[in-house]
Amino acid sequence: MTFGTACAGRNQIDIKQQRPQYGDMYDWVHAIDAPLLILRGSDLLAVAANQRGRDLLGIDLEAELPQPLAALVALVDPPHAEAAIASAIAERWHGLFLHLHGEAATRLVHVSLGRLPQGDYVLTLRAEIARSLQENLVEILDHFPVGIEIYDSELKGVLYNKMSDELFLYPERPILHHDDWWEFGFPDPAERAAAHAEWLAKLQAARREAGRVQFSEWSVRCRDGSRRTVQFRYRWIGPYYVLALWDVTSQRETERELRHLAVSDPLTGLWNRRRFEEDVALALDAFSQWGRGFGLLLIDIDHFKAINDRFGHLSGDEVLRAVAARCRRQLRQADLLARIGGEEFAVLLPDMNETEAERVGRRLLTALAATPVEVGGHRIIVTLSIGCVVPRPQEDAASLFARADDALYRAKAEGRNSLCCGSPAPQATAPRPVMPST
Ligand code: GH3
Ligand code: MG
Ligand code: MG
Repeated sequence: MTFGTACAGRNQIDIKQQRPQYGDMYDWVHAIDAPLLILRGSDLLAVAANQRGRDLLGIDLEAELPQPLAALVALVDPPHAEAAIASAIAERWHGLFLHLHGEAATRLVHVSLGRLPQGDYVLTLRAEIARSLQENLVEILDHFPVGIEIYDSELKGVLYNKMSDELFLYPERPILHHDDWWEFGFPDPAERAAAHAEWLAKLQAARREAGRVQFSEWSVRCRDGSRRTVQFRYRWIGPYYVLALWDVTSQRETERELRHLAVSDPLTGLWNRRRFEEDVALALDAFSQWGRGFGLLLIDIDHFKAINDRFGHLSGDEVLRAVAARCRRQLRQADLLARIGGEEFAVLLPDMNETEAERVGRRLLTALAATPVEVGGHRIIVTLSIGCVVPRPQEDAASLFARADDALYRAKAEGRNSLCCGSPAPQATAPRPVMPST
């Protein structure tokens, strides 16, 4: 039985034959213009319906009453619908919606409940409201700032809202089946294979655990050819596969920018202490897990206060920038150079032993000392002091930095423009005097 089949006129139905148990008790329903259905109070069986009620619910002309509603009407989820009516009655609701199978899609019928004196219930049915609600729902979906896509159990497209179209209505052709999308979304076969494998695994998990929302975020090609970062949430709702998706490109860019600001130094454009400490922690992990060594240089500009005093603070800033640029030129791409304090820099040198790290450090000394820095018409000779260390087994970051600091102090003590290598752990040495500031 399909919803909305044409019905014969009233004069063709033998009403009495259909209501053997209730006789003429509910004849009055036929005099009422609104679509009506009567449920018996004792067992909620349908005992009478007028013609408009039968038309609206698609009740077969030959169907004899009383009968359970589920036997008469193509309910989408009969146990749920019957339970909904029972609780609506028990809790004295005024109305509820019935979901019916229609020819093309699910139909909603609004039901108003009324109690009759003899304990039965009269259900007043309204399809107009239901239809407009469905239309409204589709329109509401079109106004969502997120894409909504609904596919049937075979993953054939059922509904795409406007936002989904804006992202994925490719000019080549529309996506009719979910499988069609991958080639458009991921022109690169390797990326496509990886994303598809992830999706398949999550889809299966979603099937196993009804109601569980799966999550993926991919950089995909959109209808205008641009690549965007799109977040997808997907799950099964009954027999439907439902996707909500939205473009998070600008959000991710902002996050990246904020993160960059949080870990970089605006004066020199180098990384800052926070980023440097994060990377040292990672490098220590890699060292303790896989024995992957690294070198660490702590660099301090010699007599920088004197440079400020003589040439001014702005010139001092220029010198800091020049030192940063010169050091950067001496390093590999993979080396991390950071400004970790006022006139203090640090370098993380992955995959280096102490000899190699020391060689890099000495190159930095020469790169500065050999050629004066030109600032505001002045040629300023800038020198560095450097402490150089490599990690020891099981050493933590605090101890590593302390040893580097100690080596730097010794380089200063040696007369500056100098480099010293790792020393014993600080607790094994005599307490270090505090350096007087110049
Ligand atoms: P030493 O050789 O012992 O390292 O002497 P120093 O003068 O370099 O060291 P000190 O710690 O006495 O002075 C560092 C100076 O760096 C003091 C401070 O005003 C200056 N400084 C810190 N941050 C900045 C900055 O961002 N710009 C400028 N121009 N100066 C800065
Ligand atoms: Mg200093
Ligand atoms: Mg200094």
